[in-house]
Amino acid sequence: MENTGFEEISLLSLSSSDYRDVHELVTAVNDTYGEFGLSMSLPSLRIETASAELLDKLGDTRRSGFTFAPEAATEKMRNIINKYVGDEQVLKAARAVYSRGWRTIKFYFMIGHPEETLEDVWAIIDLCKAVLKEGQRLLGSKANVNVGVSTFIPKPHTPFQWVPQDTREQVLQKQRLLRDQIRGHGLHLRWNSVEETEFEGIISRGDRRLGRVLQRAWELGCKFDAWQDGYRHDLWMQAFDEFGLEPWFYTHRERATDEVFPWDHIDVAVHKKFLLEDYLMSIKGETRVDCRDKCFACGILPKFSETRSQTAPEAWECPPVKPKSERKKDRGERTPNVTLMP
Ligand code: SF4
Repeated sequence: MENTGFEEISLLSLSSSDYRDVHELVTAVNDTYGEFGLSMSLPSLRIETASAELLDKLGDTRRSGFTFAPEAATEKMRNIINKYVGDEQVLKAARAVYSRGWRTIKFYFMIGHPEETLEDVWAIIDLCKAVLKEGQRLLGSKANVNVGVSTFIPKPHTPFQWVPQDTREQVLQKQRLLRDQIRGHGLHLRWNSVEETEFEGIISRGDRRLGRVLQRAWELGCKFDAWQDGYRHDLWMQAFDEFGLEPWFYTHRERATDEVFPWDHIDVAVHKKFLLEDYLMSIKGETRVDCRDKCFACGILPKFSETRSQTAPEAWECPPVKPKSERKKDRGERTPNVTLMP
């Protein structure tokens, strides 16, 4: 602060409130720098842990914005992505934020999750409008809801590595609905380009044949693809075409559960079987409890046994490794009774 003139600090993480000592940290930063007018933000709070106490401690003097990522707005979709936060919890968090003077709440949602219908997209719209209504009740026309909606892209080494990505038509239809509805005073919408999403989907679950495509696209003039004005969808498609590859093969194709993936030889410690269980559970709308309450033997413990022995046990929050026979028994009890796809 003394040397830069910066007056704002942002504590970044995937989920700041999961950090056990977040209250102590926020209090200590406030005690030390609060008198100098330092403003602090936690941009990725979990809605369910955005306690009034924590919000009070943040005390952002400029009251800029607060970001939450509910990701989905219906019970069905929340169960599918294993992230259950009810509407009432979202509204409660919104009330807590607006009533402390923050004018803007930013929400991140995703469209294109497996099994999603237009009804689920409507629920995003309804929830955003309900939150704005809460804001307007407390702050009048100063209340804002900024909504960022990205499109889900299935990724390797995740429970959704088997699912088809939404087609361009499906995405456009959902985006049109959002653009028609999330508008007007206090509502602001941002969304991703459908072409870039499709391209990211191809690269995400690509195979070794994409190496030739990458080189050809570069030869054709593709570069700085992450810059919106530098991305040349037509040249990428031309490169695919020249090698007889179809983008849909990587994006919109449903994979059989026994398909061997191009990334299977990469060991990320989490077992494929564990991911498959998660996937099959999600199809049935079943959720896993937080694994800190019940270990599911995902595979990281044996893999990192050496590192683990050199680290304080509480740093892991994982229970001790069970003998193989017990783990097998546990898995047998949990494996959902569903038919595998052909
Ligand atoms: S508690 Fe640890 S080992 Fe068990 S499922 Fe969770 S991350 Fe994996």
